[in-house]
Amino acid sequence: MDLLPFDTLPAHKPRRFVPPGIDLGDWGQIASLFDQLDHRAPACTSAADLERWLLDWSELSAALDEESSKRYIAMTCHTDNPEAEKAYLHFVENVDPQLKPRQFKLAQAYVTHPLRQRLPQARYEVFDRATLVHVELFRPENVPLETEEARLSQQYQKLSGSLTVQFRGEEKTLIQMGRYLEEPDRALRQEAWELVANRRLQEAEKFEEFFDQLVKLREQIARNAGYANYRDYAFRKLGRFDYTPEDCEKFHTAVEAEVMPMVAELQAERQRQLGVETLRPWDLAVDPLSRPPLRPFEQVDQMVSRTQEIFARLDGELGAGFQRMQNLRLLDLANRKGKAPGGYQSTLAEARVPFIFMNAVGLQRDVETILHEAGHAFHALATRDEDLYAYRSAPIEFCEVASMSMELLGNEFIERFYAAPEANRARRTHLEGIVNILPWIATVDAFQHWIYTHPGHTRAERTAAWVALMGRFGGAVDWSGYGPARANLWHRQLHVFLYPFYYIEYGIAQLGALQVWANSKRNKAVALNQYKHSLALGGSRPLPELFAAAGCKFEFSQKTLAPLMRLVREELGKLKAEK
Ligand SMILES: [Zn+2]
Repeated sequence: MDLLPFDTLPAHKPRRFVPPGIDLGDWGQIASLFDQLDHRAPACTSAADLERWLLDWSELSAALDEESSKRYIAMTCHTDNPEAEKAYLHFVENVDPQLKPRQFKLAQAYVTHPLRQRLPQARYEVFDRATLVHVELFRPENVPLETEEARLSQQYQKLSGSLTVQFRGEEKTLIQMGRYLEEPDRALRQEAWELVANRRLQEAEKFEEFFDQLVKLREQIARNAGYANYRDYAFRKLGRFDYTPEDCEKFHTAVEAEVMPMVAELQAERQRQLGVETLRPWDLAVDPLSRPPLRPFEQVDQMVSRTQEIFARLDGELGAGFQRMQNLRLLDLANRKGKAPGGYQSTLAEARVPFIFMNAVGLQRDVETILHEAGHAFHALATRDEDLYAYRSAPIEFCEVASMSMELLGNEFIERFYAAPEANRARRTHLEGIVNILPWIATVDAFQHWIYTHPGHTRAERTAAWVALMGRFGGAVDWSGYGPARANLWHRQLHVFLYPFYYIEYGIAQLGALQVWANSKRNKAVALNQYKHSLALGGSRPLPELFAAAGCKFEFSQKTLAPLMRLVREELGKLKAEK
């Protein structure tokens, strides 16, 4: 595919099972490989046979994953090329849906295999528990319910994405309106904020209706699988083997006790710097000292070379990894016409190398993104020698430790991009962002715990639960006159609609990243070695062990959070900026 930014990548290992000339977009050819695996499973006569079978299954999964990634990369790098879009959609529509039942069948053959118990227990325990849950939760009667859930989710997205407002004679999407909240002119910010809030409120009834239906479906899905409530089902489904709803509640309590005082301090400071009576919802995104945006670089080449220098300063191996990505052209970073928006890191699962996609335009946000995505890329590079496909990726709670740590560690050398005052401003903004996001994570998570443990609740009760959480985690923002906007604020959080319970992962990972950073303040070399070692474990060990390998506690209470918030406060104090 010549639409890819990189040439043919060197194979990590020659294939043993998947034929070299196979067309991985042709279901017929793929199906015959699944047939072979189906037939071979019962014919395994030794543990070694079964391991070989697992590795062949792995090889097939990786080849299919890479095929899908390449088509996605080609499409997002060339949104104006209809062939690229067609090739991707072909895979999504003709291969993906067929894969699911076939992968399930193999999982079933594996968990019921008489030789499974003879495999080395420590090696396979994590794989086994995930595969067992995959098989255990499957209910044929849930398939149509999940299709309906996907349909409703898509409708939510469609409605959300279609909302626009008329602003100063122009039609703007709500996302486009976000930038006006950074304008120094307060009246303009208020006008922009009100327009967006009112536009969402006009659809409040529809959002509530979608959500009522989603909750009903999810409760039914949980009951069909034998669970008393959807929360317990979701924890199992998401593979949360290593923490419980009670641990999440500890996180909420810890954020309330340890983070909210800092939020209050930062808000008081912001209010003073802005010179306003009270902080209103439209006062939260603007630079409180009215400084122009940071300009870390002009050309994307500069961003790459400076980022390269930062990684080289941090650690020779990480520096070499990023250099290798450049050599193989595994970076497509500059914004240009015909590129999809946003940024992501994708792993080419067979070549076992990462790829980073971005739309850099010269903002501090770009520097944060490249550091973040490079953290994910280092994770992928670190697991290259792992032959079991499932173990080459870690649970999201730890993947984000890899990336968020790199933001904090990389920021230590951000003078590569800025003179000292700007470097401090960038670091301060980043740390404030962490302080401010933790309460929102707690709010979104606690809200979902409430929803799915209160079956049959009314809309009024749900709103009351949300408003109570806003009281707990919303800080001192003055919402007077905007009660309905505050009560419906969750309508904009797509995770609540689309990915139930998937959000606290970012909070858990941030606790890990802050610990890695704290460790690096004590001893950089040791912290970096622990970080690299933990990344190399991929998904082969349970979360507490991955965290321990990184030098972190897997614990979300005040005990863990208090010293981290002390460190953040201390750093913020050092980085103070005044007009
Ligand atoms: Zn990430």
